[in-house]
Amino acid sequence: MSDQCIFCEIVKGNIPCAKIFEDDQVLSFLDIGPLSPGHCLLISKKHYARLEHCPADLTAALASRLGPIAQAVITAVNAPGYNILNNNHPCAGQLVEHVHFHIIPRNPNDGLFGNWPADKYPAGEMERIQQKITDSLAI
Ligand code: 5GP
Ligand code: ZN
Repeated sequence: MSDQCIFCEIVKGNIPCAKIFEDDQVLSFLDIGPLSPGHCLLISKKHYARLEHCPADLTAALASRLGPIAQAVITAVNAPGYNILNNNHPCAGQLVEHVHFHIIPRNPNDGLFGNWPADKYPAGEMERIQQKITDSLAI
């Protein structure tokens, strides 16, 4: 727990939330600033700032709940699709530094998340980065 963290305050019950689901490791509730109706968050109950800090069993617990919650959300709001979003570090848009996943219902032509500006690797660059990543991988 962190006293400075708004999601820890929600876990402790000090700040109310529109709860959807909880078990001993995770909590899901509606995002207070929805990108679309039904936009939910799934958070760890224990405070970790980023996904790379989360122990594997907690990451697995979070992942195991995403599909069923997403199914319930899109059924409830009658949306034909959804995005799962997990921001890590401020440069990636993480405002609340407590691990969480967004479940964002999507509709055709809703104007959210246009096509991303995909690039191409120059010759040899993909293999160079592949090698650097595999050299750094601690699993
Ligand atoms: P991030 O940008 O860190 O990935 O997303 C944080 C999310 O938390 C935002 O979508 C924001 O609307 C949501 N949020 C921030 N404070 C609260 C709160 O007090 N209650 C709820 N339900 N959501 C919050
Ligand atoms: Zn926290």
